[in-house]
Amino acid sequence: MAKLANFTPTILKNLFSKPATTTYPFEPFKYPEGTRGHIENDIDNCIFCGMCTRNCPTRCLTIDKATHTWTINRFDCLACEYCTVVCPKKCLHTVEGYQEPMPEKSTVTYTMSEEAIAAEAEKKRIAAEKAKAAKEAAAKKKAEEEAKAAAEAAAAEAAPEAPAAE
Ligand code: SF4
Ligand code: SF4
Repeated sequence: MAKLANFTPTILKNLFSKPATTTYPFEPFKYPEGTRGHIENDIDNCIFCGMCTRNCPTRCLTIDKATHTWTINRFDCLACEYCTVVCPKKCLHTVEGYQEPMPEKSTVTYTMSEEAIAAEAEKKRIAAEKAKAAKEAAAKKKAEEEAKAAAEAAAAEAAPEAPAAE
């Protein structure tokens, strides 16, 4: 009887509180706080540096600079989130939801949009133009300095020597 008295507050609390379980699938599934979910890539911000592929412990990532693609084998991903830490552009992040079941281990490939590829090419063109202009300006300045130094040397050579003091 004493034991029942000890349980009474718990019994009463459970009788008048909401159940701890949910009625999924009759209500949407709610992921518990801290669930890592799966990795997504804002591919248009990716610079294909390879930091994520080199640091992934399961080597489940690949990149192809030529085709502007980033590929993940979700079945090998541990959701450790290390790739999100090392990515210099912070374009990797985890979102709620687990990898859906599939009959075979297929990969998912993200491809940079045409607009982003064009913008990247334009950025590279502008940078190359700036570098070329800077190189030309430096060469011009060097040539001017050399010409000035040569003119000063010639002038010094042509100047009459000062008479010796008596
Ligand atoms: S979360 Fe971990 S295992 Fe998954 S891709 Fe990133 S680094 Fe690799
Ligand atoms: S680390 Fe980030 S920027 Fe570099 S290849 Fe991976 S996703 Fe792209």
